[in-house]
Amino acid sequence: MKRTLSVLILALCIFLTSCKAEEEKTSLSFYAMDTIMSIDTYGENSESASLAKERVLSLEKLFSVTDENSELFALNESGSEELGKETLELIKYALDMSEKTDGALDPTIYPVLREWGFTVGEYKIPDSETLSALLKNVGTDKVHINENSVSLDSGVMLDLGAVAKGYASEECYKILKENNLSSALINLGGNIRLLGSRPDGNPWRIGVADPLSPSDNLGILSVTDCAVVTSGNYQRYFEENGKTYGHIIDPKTGFPADNDLLSVTVISDSGTLCDALSTALFVMGSEKAEQFWRDNKNFEAVFVLKDNTVHVTEEIYGSFSLENKDFELKIIQ
Ligand code: ADP
Ligand code: MG
Repeated sequence: MKRTLSVLILALCIFLTSCKAEEEKTSLSFYAMDTIMSIDTYGENSESASLAKERVLSLEKLFSVTDENSELFALNESGSEELGKETLELIKYALDMSEKTDGALDPTIYPVLREWGFTVGEYKIPDSETLSALLKNVGTDKVHINENSVSLDSGVMLDLGAVAKGYASEECYKILKENNLSSALINLGGNIRLLGSRPDGNPWRIGVADPLSPSDNLGILSVTDCAVVTSGNYQRYFEENGKTYGHIIDPKTGFPADNDLLSVTVISDSGTLCDALSTALFVMGSEKAEQFWRDNKNFEAVFVLKDNTVHVTEEIYGSFSLENKDFELKIIQ
């Protein structure tokens, strides 16, 4: 009897705790950086989510490539500009990652991306002369930094679209942490940044979309206090004559990346790194990308391939459950 009673009391406590956690969830959704964002916080300090949102909006004002009032727009227009701390930091980061990824990530790709119409949604396939002329202005050696001022060679323009959301997610994470939150899910248009574990102490369950049917999950990652970012050409693309053209450009060809990959998900303790790498690894194709992981090992990854295999790095393998049985799971070592 005594035992039954203590089991009942325990069950009631768990029930009440989970109710409490449910009650204290605050969801803040908004539109920024051309996508839908949400910040779910748990606990009493819900106004910190508003602070994080304000931070994202202020970063958007700096990094937007289309907003005529942004720092990046001013730099692209004038070719030389004194920049604030954040824009400078993110440009330096993107240039550094460009070097590390052998040019797979390249913020100077913007004039090519614009020619394809991806920035404004007026899509077209550029002719090869136009593309090769534009590619002459692509390359990180055409960007010069002197203390706070950045100057660009003639015809060079920068785009931080491949890293901005990851950077913003990391800033949100810092704000929530500084405000003593211990459990939060930040989702900036699919750039996920997790603070701690779920309020009940369990890992978060983050879906990896099926690139062939993006509203379905191909698998689930059970993870804690990390960033999870996916890149693929299934998110933003256009079709012409039965062929699909996606928004991630291979800087070597000027064409949308088209290799054996359908998507790349990167998991690490930095949202900025995840964002930069998911784009870069997607450009590389699986073989080069997997070798990049072996050489660096400062992140984990899930690669979805066109041959219906899912390649998962060793460390994250145990945290990934494959939901779609049409795909075969392989471990990368
Ligand atoms: P999303 O922004 O959809 O989350 P990504 O992080 O992969 O996806 O970034 C893709 C964006 O990055 C493109 O929309 C474009 O602005 C820019 N971009 C495309 N190709 C490259 C590249 N090779 N290097 C750097 N930036 C790129
Ligand atoms: Mg990216």
